[in-house]
Amino acid sequence: MAVTKNVEIDKIQEAIDAGITDIGENRVQELEKKYEAFGNKINYHMIGHLQTNKVKYIIDKVKLIHSLDRMSLVKEINRRANQHNLIMDTLVQVNISGEETKYGLPPEEVMDFIEEVEKYENINIKGLMTMAPHVEDVEKTRVVFKKLAKLAKEIEKKDFKQTDMGILSMGMTNDYRIALQEGSNIIRVGRAIFGEREY
Ligand SMILES: *Cc1c(COP(=O)(O)O)cnc(C)c1O
Repeated sequence: MAVTKNVEIDKIQEAIDAGITDIGENRVQELEKKYEAFGNKINYHMIGHLQTNKVKYIIDKVKLIHSLDRMSLVKEINRRANQHNLIMDTLVQVNISGEETKYGLPPEEVMDFIEEVEKYENINIKGLMTMAPHVEDVEKTRVVFKKLAKLAKEIEKKDFKQTDMGILSMGMTNDYRIALQEGSNIIRVGRAIFGEREY
């Protein structure tokens, strides 16, 4: 998936012409802008922290929300999905490294969280997402990806009805090669495609 935050429409169009089918955004307003430009020609992924009051703007636009991390968000997504008569696919964001600056549930809370989410009919869990810490020695991210893959295996063993572990969303420009070796099937790549971001 191409991460298109802070990338101009022209440049994204080039990426689409080159075969990109899925883009990721971490802000609702940016996602809406891209949706205005490309409509249903591509798939949209919400990859950043999502405020509950903004769910209504993206519920009928995104294919997958990668940042499910709390019950208030579950309830709001479920409510809005129900209004639109759709079932929203999501990934549970896990904070494997325990960094305070990172969003996501601690791994030990994920199982109970999923059990709760199972009560909501308009929301499905399709896998897990994590962000590895930014480190000098990229090899150090491997243990983070290994832990996410292992957690997914444990969840798979349970008999959840609306949850499967088909997707592991992990790996970015710095560490996607290692993430792929550890079982990632969605890498979220921005800078390696579009160059350094200008803020
Ligand atoms: C920005 C971002 C990425 C992409 O990072 P790059 O280093 O540009 O590849 C991936 N995932 C999330 C959640 C992001 O916010």
